[in-house]
Formats: sequence, structure tokens, C-alpha cells
Amino acid sequence: MATADVPMILYDPALTVDFRDYGIMLPIAPDRAGRVVEFLRDQAGGALSGFPGPIRDVPGALGLPGMEGLEGRVVPDRRDLERVFQGEFVVGLYGGGLSTALLNAYELIDSQGRPHRYAPDRALKPLAGLFETILNQIGGTYLACRLVLAGAAGMPGFCYYLGGGMHHGRYDQGAGFCLVNDIVIAARKLQAEGACRLIWVVDVDAHKGCGTAELVSFSRARGELGLKAGADIRTLSIHMAAGWPLDAETLRGAASGRAPRIPSDVEIPVEAGDEGAYVPELEKGLYKLEKISGGQKPDLAIVVDGADPYEHAGLPSSDPL
Ligand SMILES: [Zn+2]
Repeated sequence: MATADVPMILYDPALTVDFRDYGIMLPIAPDRAGRVVEFLRDQAGGALSGFPGPIRDVPGALGLPGMEGLEGRVVPDRRDLERVFQGEFVVGLYGGGLSTALLNAYELIDSQGRPHRYAPDRALKPLAGLFETILNQIGGTYLACRLVLAGAAGMPGFCYYLGGGMHHGRYDQGAGFCLVNDIVIAARKLQAEGACRLIWVVDVDAHKGCGTAELVSFSRARGELGLKAGADIRTLSIHMAAGWPLDAETLRGAASGRAPRIPSDVEIPVEAGDEGAYVPELEKGLYKLEKISGGQKPDLAIVVDGADPYEHAGLPSSDPL
């Protein structure tokens, strides 16, 4: 159980996906989140609080004010997706368009229409089965935020969720292994429930948080965020200046007439060779975020921290993970 001064970890082993079961040939170790938990436990010498899943049971186990009756409801429903995405896209996800949406999001078909890193004949499970796991993963993102807002997380208001981070999920399509964007779904759901007003999304993944920027910008254009709406989300992304998704977005935008890439509210591209400026640039960016938030600190900050900016990250950064 949480105590006041130790970090809280939220991790549900049941949400681990072995992509090979679905015929998807990605070089991802399925047990990596479990290994992170083990490593942290060893390092912290037991000074670690957390909820090793199942995520949907956590609120009941807490019995905290503000968390009553939340069991199961941590998993988003269709309305939570409709609040954020194009209606037609959501209809497809809950109807006959799910497999196509997954093939697109996981980039399993190349431009010639051939399977790419995909061997459906080797799949043990139907591709569509991934949707339920993804919805449960989004539940974890939402729950981590609720734990922080309810004051349940130790180390004042900090909860580390080993899941989610689907920041490439866009308005009308998935991309870069992200079917739907858990960050914006969770943020907009919390605001709709009146749980908080101003949220910052600080994205330090090596790849630009393109889906998050687009969804927040579109919500603001519809008047659902901003001063009049009484709730807002402000985004910061610090990322590689070149490479995926910036190149792909430019090409796709030009070829398809699709809306081009939308900048985050604070956009910090880092050129190759400028890595030494990373931390000072991030610090400057956070001050900028506060400035454009009218000098206000957020009620909640969601940090999207892919492991890929780490200098010894195991995967090439050309992989949009
Ligand atoms: Zn990444």
C-alpha cells in the first residue's frame, strides 16, 4: 500500500502482449515491463509501493475517498473514445473496421499491399483480440491519473504506470503501433468528470507526440478545450528533429491531402549532435508551458516517457516505438 515517500508503480501483468501470438514480428521482449518492476524492486530494496494488477481491481482495493465505485469503470467505453476521435473511426473500431485499423496502426502492410513484419499464418490469436487489451491498457493510464488526483500515490502525487503511451494515435487513424491515443482519452475523460481542469502532457519519447498534438489541437478548435470550455490541455514534445514520424507525416500529408503535422504547444526538436542541450532545452520548454498556461501550474501532468531517448536504448530510433 502507498506510503508518503516511496514511488508508486502501477503494473498489470495481464496486459502484457506477446506480438508474436498475433503474427506480428516486432523485436520487442514481451516481458520487459515485468523486468523493469523486478529491477526497480532490487534497486529500491523493497522501498516501493505499487499495485501489480489486475488494474480494474485496484480502485476497490484502495477504498479511498474519490475512488468509490470505480471498479471496472477505469476501462474506457465507447463514449470516451467518441469524445476524442472522428465518429467514423470509432464506428469502425467497434464494427467491421477493426482489423483494417489495426493493420494500419501497426503498419503491417507495405505500400505495395504486401505483409510487412506480419505473418498471419503464424498467428495463434485473432488480430482483433488486441482491442480489448488496448482498452484495458488505457484503463491503466486513466487509473494512474486518478490515483494521483485522489492523493493515493506516494512521493507526493507521483504514479508510474508501466503501460500506455500511445502518443501516435491520431484523430481518424492509428499510427506507429498506437491504435488509439490513451493519453488524450484519459485526459479528456478526467476533465469531463470534473476531476481536473488544466492538464499538461510532457512527451519525452524520442519520437514526436504527433497524435497527441493533433487531438488536442482539434479539440481546442471544436471549442471543447480552452478558456471558454473551462478546461485545457497543453502539450510539450521534445524529440528527434528528423526521422519518423516527421518524414512520414510530411510525405503522407503531401500525397494524401491529409492534414499535415501539427506542432505541439511547445515543440522542441533536437538535432543529431545536440543531445548535450537536451536537459536545458527541456527546462526552458517547461517554463514556456507555464507561460502559455497563463502562469498556472497544471492540476495534473502526464509524462510520456518512452525509453528510446536513453543513450543505450536497444532498438534503432527509426522504429516508431
Ligand atoms: Zn518512441
